[in-house]
Amino acid sequence: MFFDLRDQRVLVVGGGEVALRKTELLLRAGARVCLVAPKIHPELRERAASDAALSISEREFKPEDLEGARVLIVATAQRALNRFIAKLADARNIPVNVVDDREASRFIVPAVIDRDPVLIAVSTAGTSPVLARRLREKLEALLPRHLGAAALWLRSLRKMAQKKLRDTDARRRYFEALVDGEAMRRFVGGDAQGAERIAQQRLAHDSTAPKPPGEVTLVGAGPGDAELLTLKALRALQDADVILHDRLVSSEVLDMARRDALRVSVGKRPGTPGFAQEEINRLLIDYARKGQRVVRLKGGDPFVFGRGGEELEALAQARINFSVIPGITAAAGCAAYAGIPLTHRDHAQSVTFVTGHAEKDGREPDWRALAGARHTAVFYMGLGRLDHIVASLIEHGAPKERPAALIADGTRQGQRVLTATLAEIGALAAAAALPSPTLLVVGEVVALHRSLAWFNQTDAGDEATRSA
Ligand code: SAH
Repeated sequence: MFFDLRDQRVLVVGGGEVALRKTELLLRAGARVCLVAPKIHPELRERAASDAALSISEREFKPEDLEGARVLIVATAQRALNRFIAKLADARNIPVNVVDDREASRFIVPAVIDRDPVLIAVSTAGTSPVLARRLREKLEALLPRHLGAAALWLRSLRKMAQKKLRDTDARRRYFEALVDGEAMRRFVGGDAQGAERIAQQRLAHDSTAPKPPGEVTLVGAGPGDAELLTLKALRALQDADVILHDRLVSSEVLDMARRDALRVSVGKRPGTPGFAQEEINRLLIDYARKGQRVVRLKGGDPFVFGRGGEELEALAQARINFSVIPGITAAAGCAAYAGIPLTHRDHAQSVTFVTGHAEKDGREPDWRALAGARHTAVFYMGLGRLDHIVASLIEHGAPKERPAALIADGTRQGQRVLTATLAEIGALAAAAALPSPTLLVVGEVVALHRSLAWFNQTDAGDEATRSA
């Protein structure tokens, strides 16, 4: 909450250094500050003499002082007294902050980055003022000095934009283009005139241009760790009107999306009906026809076992504009986080990504090739048919002692890696009751996990591997 304190009566109890600092902040926010304390810091007295917004009562606190106070700050040196006053205020529903006493406080005063009228508040909920301060420093360094002026400038453009651009989407896009583009760069760089010129040209253009058609961006969300998103994917998530996502997409990734975007989960859970592919295609087309910017968000990479191709074909047929942003596919992400290089000059010259699902018509993959030496085979969706996969590989010439790994929840905090020989991996998996999603990697390179594992090393699954 940002509390508008202009011309509001704020009571400060206490007259020392701390009360002085808080009083200065309150006066800056436009509050009328009434300060009560038997002993008053000389600077406070000076300030009161020159500033009508500050009045001082040089005496002990009385409960009547609370009368008509919007907010109360308590900053005497006596903890028990502070708490007593806080209790009185709380009983009267007056929000109270007791300096350096989180428990007795109803609200806290955050560290702020002030680019008036832009204000950024940092709170650690009282857990660490030092951390809050460090974050503040980082944000300070990040934000241009003229940001406040830029905010005022953008406000000055709003009336005209409201007149010329009728619908809210068009206005949002107009301001996005300004804030993201050359206009903002000019403004914060000190060229206010140049910025204004661009803003006016753009407004004239947007007000006559036809409503831009909707579009669909097929976005790869990566395997789970939100920091593995590409910069382009992040931008698409921030600009989206609608996001259709799979069940596989992690909540951390979804948290990166624009808050106001409509989110539709179209996930298919194994064993449950979920959304049919035709329904998903229809939704994509319908939203885009309404002029929306649609993000179709898929786990990993959209073109690797993601049906991305099928969805694009439907869009192409419906003449909807589309683009594709690749993502880190599970094989790449899980292998990296498990310390298993997919190729290696000494162990594997090639790698295959295979689906563990049976083909529609019962066709089998080329087992002989997958079982070949100096080759890594990565099975997606393979957990359900693990026994069949293992038996087929061995039947087609893979040695029983070839190393294999199962990586569950790869790149996420709960990542588990189990390794065993091909002959034994099935029993290990059954005992471990692995969750989905899980990836199977088969090949000599898996042996490198022992020395190259680096992620989540205290994980129980890993210990099982080590003792195995
Ligand atoms: N398009 C996705 C794959 C979708 S198929 C991609 O490029 O990664 C779904 C399968 O991917 C799962 O059954 C599992 O085998 C694998 N998978 C996806 N994310 C995973 C993860 N974080 N950890 C382990 N396996 C994963």
